[in-house]
Amino acid sequence: MREAKFYKKINESTVQCRLCHHFCAIRNGEVGNCSARKNQNGKLYSLVYGYPVAINIDPVEKKPLFHFMPGSFTYSLGTMGCNFHCKNCQNWDISQEKFIKEKEKNMEYFSPEKIVEEALGNDCESISYTYNEPTIWAEYALDIMRLARANNLKNIWVSNGFMSDECLEAVIPHLDAVNIDIKSFDDEFYKENIGARFKPVLENCKKIKQSNIHLEITTLIIPTLSDNTEMLKKIADFIVSELDSDVPWHISRFSPDISWKLRKLPETTEGIIYAAYEVGKEAGLKYVYTGNLPGDQRENTYCPKCGELAIRRLGYEIERLDNHGRCSQCDKNLDIIE
Ligand code: SF4
Repeated sequence: MREAKFYKKINESTVQCRLCHHFCAIRNGEVGNCSARKNQNGKLYSLVYGYPVAINIDPVEKKPLFHFMPGSFTYSLGTMGCNFHCKNCQNWDISQEKFIKEKEKNMEYFSPEKIVEEALGNDCESISYTYNEPTIWAEYALDIMRLARANNLKNIWVSNGFMSDECLEAVIPHLDAVNIDIKSFDDEFYKENIGARFKPVLENCKKIKQSNIHLEITTLIIPTLSDNTEMLKKIADFIVSELDSDVPWHISRFSPDISWKLRKLPETTEGIIYAAYEVGKEAGLKYVYTGNLPGDQRENTYCPKCGELAIRRLGYEIERLDNHGRCSQCDKNLDIIE
């Protein structure tokens, strides 16, 4: 077990974790809300440092990031545990494990050096901290991020945005791109379906954008829970007014079969996804994308000025028709980081 850095002592036996907005007070022998951090004799330890349980080489489009190094591959890893408990979670087998025990894992230790070496050896241009919430393993992520930068690799977080100010301030200098979930604009939804609050997520989105880090937003549209067009309009208006109209918004379809606790809900209809797409466009967003609707033309990038097709997407295959990030017809900047 690796001693954590982001915590403080409350008294002889209790510590407070400082990584996310839960700010868990953890007594001796207990773990935090994410199950990944344990108080042992008055010190806080990460149970997951060096032990990713999922590693893949993914197209960057899978994160999803559509305007950041399109067509590149990203070395992606995640650990066990999570500070959110989303009933719709698709990675629940790793994220919702309550009894994380490093010694019983019988797993290979992946040092930060090994992660970077593997990323370079597999021709990846970036490393993605994804699959579960990277905030809860920020010490491990940060050690990898420093090394990655020194080796000309970019760093991508796929996050729920619930990190503390201390965590975000530590991560920002090493971060290149983020996809943040805004799951709803309703605090009740965050309380009921996730066990968290949504205000810190909005504040962190603003800080990330102000720090000039590439940002894309994702919203999963869950029938009856997060498919209300008025609520979706609030998300779109927030992105336009508080972030920027150039921030891409991914609206994706929910599939009950692979969800943790929402298997009785129906799949999101295409009509609801199309309605959400129109909400985003009417709010003034330049780039709105449908997700989990293979073959849908709304996954393509079109020039927001003249409407010319700039990037065609089919699954994770892409065809570049733009001119190095500019529209091939009218030369408009398409807000793409090459
Ligand atoms: S990362 Fe968040 S949920 Fe986990 S122990 Fe720290 S404050 Fe609690």
